[in-house]
Amino acid sequence: MAYSNEIYQYARDVLAQRRQKAVQTLLERRQELYLRFPRFEEIEAQLRLTGMAAVRAAMSPNGKEKLDEIRQVNLDLQEERRQMLSSLGLPQDYLSEPYVCPLCKDEGFVDGKRCACFEKLVREESFRRLNRLSPLSLSDFDNFDLSYYSSVSDGTAPSAFEQMKKIYQYCKRYAENFSSHSANLLMSGRTGLGKTHLSLAIAKAAIQKGFGVIYGSAPDLLAQIEKERFSRGDSANQTLDLMLDCDLLILDDLGAEFATNFTAATIYQIMNSRLNKGLPTIISTNLSYQEMLKNYGERVSSRVIVSYVPLFFTGQDVRQQKMTRNMK
Ligand SMILES: [Zn+2]
Repeated sequence: MAYSNEIYQYARDVLAQRRQKAVQTLLERRQELYLRFPRFEEIEAQLRLTGMAAVRAAMSPNGKEKLDEIRQVNLDLQEERRQMLSSLGLPQDYLSEPYVCPLCKDEGFVDGKRCACFEKLVREESFRRLNRLSPLSLSDFDNFDLSYYSSVSDGTAPSAFEQMKKIYQYCKRYAENFSSHSANLLMSGRTGLGKTHLSLAIAKAAIQKGFGVIYGSAPDLLAQIEKERFSRGDSANQTLDLMLDCDLLILDDLGAEFATNFTAATIYQIMNSRLNKGLPTIISTNLSYQEMLKNYGERVSSRVIVSYVPLFFTGQDVRQQKMTRNMK
């Protein structure tokens, strides 16, 4: 996957900071330990000397015996250090750099290839940048208030309260059990019924579990994709690539974008590609099925019908009710 140079640079900066911190931490540990137990300093100095002596012995013609002797001294010193550390209750690697990733020593590369820690950094940072405009911190399951939904039923259908309680419980379970093979959800219903709130709550839970989540409104994300498509350089198609590959894509307010052939084709591409990969997508929309058919055509609508779990949000605009309550 292609990320922008800016994001790679960010990852390199983080790694450089980690290395610096590891070196600094070791320095402080040594200073402190040497001060309290000067024997540590002696041992480490002798270990360095035996290292150099071993090199010299290895190069001299009759060095074999000498080399064995040096090795033994070296092993004894290491053993002494080991015992001293363990009598102090310190881990055996206490006197080496505490790297975040021991595999690459925070260099970001192993055998000329990018280390998993580097990939993780660029991935998480891309998600963070894409999601930074979303009010993720504001919505969770605990502050979803069911008291805004009427428990009066007309006798033919369940009350708004009953219906929304079911949806709320479904979404909560969905978030708790979320995996990259979870179901696709279609949240539909009028504005102000809690679709954004519940999808943000799911996003937040999935992010906390360590999944790569992209959350955004359809107009914003589509505009971003269009902008990148016509730009040259390293960030071309970055948003689209991430949307095709992330563990969970939440496309809020589908249908609010300015509809063109480009947006319809892009929506189809996103849905189809994610379905083929078995990656979950949550779509929220004010559109009815008929409107969806009109905006995006048969291909998109039929996929929604077959492959998405429908959640019909009902009730009276919660935002308006909140405003009215606040004015009283
Ligand atoms: Zn690494």
